[in-house]
Amino acid sequence: MSRHFRTQSQPHLRLIIVLSLLLVGGLTCTTFYAVSTPRASIELLPTGTAQAAQAVQAAPAAVQSAKLGPETRVVPENRKQAAREPTLVPDYTLPTITNGLVPVLTKIPTQQKVVFLTIDDGATQLPQDLALLQANGIKASLFLAKTFIAGNPEYFSPFVAAGSRVEDHTISHDLKFLAGSYAQQKAEICGMADYALEHYGRRPVFFRPPGGPYSAVTRKAAADCGMKAIIDWEAKANAGGMDYQQGNALRPGEIVLMHFRPEFANDLQAFVTAQKAAGLKVVLLEDYLQVH
Ligand SMILES: [Zn+2]
Repeated sequence: MSRHFRTQSQPHLRLIIVLSLLLVGGLTCTTFYAVSTPRASIELLPTGTAQAAQAVQAAPAAVQSAKLGPETRVVPENRKQAAREPTLVPDYTLPTITNGLVPVLTKIPTQQKVVFLTIDDGATQLPQDLALLQANGIKASLFLAKTFIAGNPEYFSPFVAAGSRVEDHTISHDLKFLAGSYAQQKAEICGMADYALEHYGRRPVFFRPPGGPYSAVTRKAAADCGMKAIIDWEAKANAGGMDYQQGNALRPGEIVLMHFRPEFANDLQAFVTAQKAAGLKVVLLEDYLQVH
């Protein structure tokens, strides 16, 4: 396409813009027509919506308001991108609570090209951490403990607003948690669930014990606090590198552990590098398991 639609250089231009989305054979095709007078030529702009949007933005405001009727919609590039991707239909369903015990997941048994990021504790709250996640298009499950975040729980509110979820990692993060009685474990789990609900408007559905170990007592206490699963991991982003319990690369369905630590940026970069090398898409665990 050698000719471009430039309203700034043609002040008398009248235009009618019709943007239509055609789904043909599973592919989304966008056609953008510009009808102009006095030449009354019809130009088919490139299908790149960014260029189409630029052309619309370049039009004087009066022209836009006069000619962009309700039938005309400009789809932002990010929505176009989403529309091109096939809808992901998870092939795994979270097991139900059985005999009063929540299921335990360390990895999602799927061959779909997905990976899940979990970020724990909340002790180090750096100003750029959320921006780093967003720059990589990542939403994560945040297993927070009250003892680490009580001084500044508001730090995590923008994470939640951006789509990440706060999950349950106990009140006190006592590494002797597992030795506690049912009542003690339940108090730790339910207490953090209440705290998260109070500060972030949603009650957690997943629990991660401090350090990871659990017992049947833990599974029962978690269930009795309303948890749907204990979520552990088989891979870590740690000290600027990746640690794998199995193999030397991320696998489909991998649940990755990270922490809010001073080395957040390096850990996230290690994760993103491994995720891209493995050809996996980062999906929010709660979305994939369809829990809310
Ligand atoms: Zn922890």
